[in-house]
Amino acid sequence: MTNAVVVGSGPNGLAAALTLAAAGVEVRVLEMADRLGGGTRSSELTLPGLIHDECSAAHPLALDTPFSRRFDLTAHGLKWIWPEVQYAHPLDGGRGAAAWRSVEATADALGGRDGRRWQRLFGPLTDHFDGIAAEIVQPMLHVPRHPLAMGAFGAVSGLPAALLARRWRGDEAQALFAGVAAHAFRPFGSPMSSAVGVTLATAAHRFGWPVAEGGSSAISGAMITLLEQHGARLETGVHITSLDELGAPDIVMLDVAPAAAVDIAGDRMPHRVARGLRRFRHGPGAFKVEFAVEGGVPWTHEPSRLAGTVHVGGSLAEIAAAEKATGAGRMPERPFVLVCQQSVADPTRAKDGVHPLYAYAHVPAGYTGDATGAIEAQLERFAPGFRDRILARHVRSAVAMEEHNVNYVGGDIVTGANDPLQMVFRPRVTAHPYSLGIDGVYICSAATPPGAGAHGMCGFNAANAALKAHGIETAGTPAAPAAGLAVGGW
Ligand SMILES: Cc1cc2nc3c(=O)[nH]c(=O)nc-3n(C[C@H](O)[C@H](O)[C@H](O)COP(=O)(O)OP(=O)(O)OC[C@H]3O[C@@H](n4cnc5c(N)ncnc54)[C@H](O)[C@@H]3O)c2cc1C
Repeated sequence: MTNAVVVGSGPNGLAAALTLAAAGVEVRVLEMADRLGGGTRSSELTLPGLIHDECSAAHPLALDTPFSRRFDLTAHGLKWIWPEVQYAHPLDGGRGAAAWRSVEATADALGGRDGRRWQRLFGPLTDHFDGIAAEIVQPMLHVPRHPLAMGAFGAVSGLPAALLARRWRGDEAQALFAGVAAHAFRPFGSPMSSAVGVTLATAAHRFGWPVAEGGSSAISGAMITLLEQHGARLETGVHITSLDELGAPDIVMLDVAPAAAVDIAGDRMPHRVARGLRRFRHGPGAFKVEFAVEGGVPWTHEPSRLAGTVHVGGSLAEIAAAEKATGAGRMPERPFVLVCQQSVADPTRAKDGVHPLYAYAHVPAGYTGDATGAIEAQLERFAPGFRDRILARHVRSAVAMEEHNVNYVGGDIVTGANDPLQMVFRPRVTAHPYSLGIDGVYICSAATPPGAGAHGMCGFNAANAALKAHGIETAGTPAAPAAGLAVGGW
């Protein structure tokens, strides 16, 4: 019987493990932390009974993928719940903008010419998103089955976010796009800095931005249930530093950052592969604060009260300046802050009127300062009285983010800069992104296509590459892509 060891139990490690186990491979998962789940862990971080998502919170890219179609996690304890407003963007003076599932509702709320332009861009992309999504996990060198949809997607995704945002005149629509584009952690003047924003905005209209009922740990929980049913062995508290510690399994899957893969493989990795992986670039960091908030956040912009995610940073110009600064290693006075209010979609998350609130600021890579005050000031700006409602907080700096999970190098929560080269080729320039140049050894973390997000697609693709190499056929599993565009961001 073919056997495999998976190092790391983030959603990609678990997805790889599950794909292998379901194909009849004997699987062992080794995780260095004391709990499984990597970026999908949820914990009581502030007050007893209040569950906070440590990393992933909203999941537009996890709903309908080749992995989710192969493994129905919703039949094993995962329940998606949608807020009424998918994401919102408050501006000064109680103004703002919001994105609903419906493109029409979003366009109507923006109104006038900007609303029509939102509809003209996102209407057709949403109608064709299933085809676009299928293409972007395909090998790059292939005949597209949806050439027109891909052409339309590529034409806007290739643009700098600052340029695309200027198709709208009013600051509401501009800011609405700026907030979603900022998920790429890229300066807005950079080519392809629109791609992640266009993908996430379209996904909001096609699938919404749901949260997992009870916390994101339900995502890994469902995978763990399935893995146990397949007889996989799961161990925590095991930090792997060398392939030699693994014995001689037929397949090794590393759910780790590229530099860590080089260290673990040591001399067994061909020099050219090691050199390519060492060149992998990480992006800016995230500084995260969990709050316990009495009565929720008193946003003056009403639709923000109904939103699962709120992008806090003001106008397009302000967010562009903040992203430029963090990309250049400078801490902005007013950083971009991403806020999730999961209890808006999932009332079970609030306890006795106290709500868990998740907020992280984009900060320079490895930032050693304290951004708590800057985060609170940004929220207070759009929700006066917020500070008075804080009952407890839990702070995780960019440096602590890496201590919490070694894959988030310097606090880089998307495991790799979304620069143009790495969006097309990651983790190195090759047609075989999951291969580490050693027979049977693969990398499957978010550093590989299709990039960040708790969707499991990197692990699924890597496992399929391994199964193909071992000549193992699986029912209902598509061939692994050789490479694909990375449009995951967060
Ligand atoms: C603050 C934050 C917010 C986010 N928000 C969202 C969101 O809302 N939606 C979304 O879709 N995504 C979001 N993400 C991104 C998402 O969580 C990640 O892209 C995803 O978890 C990556 O999965 P992974 O399996 O590649 O790695 P990870 O989830 O990072 O897991 C890697 C695991 O491997 C373990 N490991 C590493 N090295 C070793 C070793 N040598 N030995 C043993 N174990 C090892 C680590 O301990 C970890 O458990 C967010 C991430 C963060 C941090």
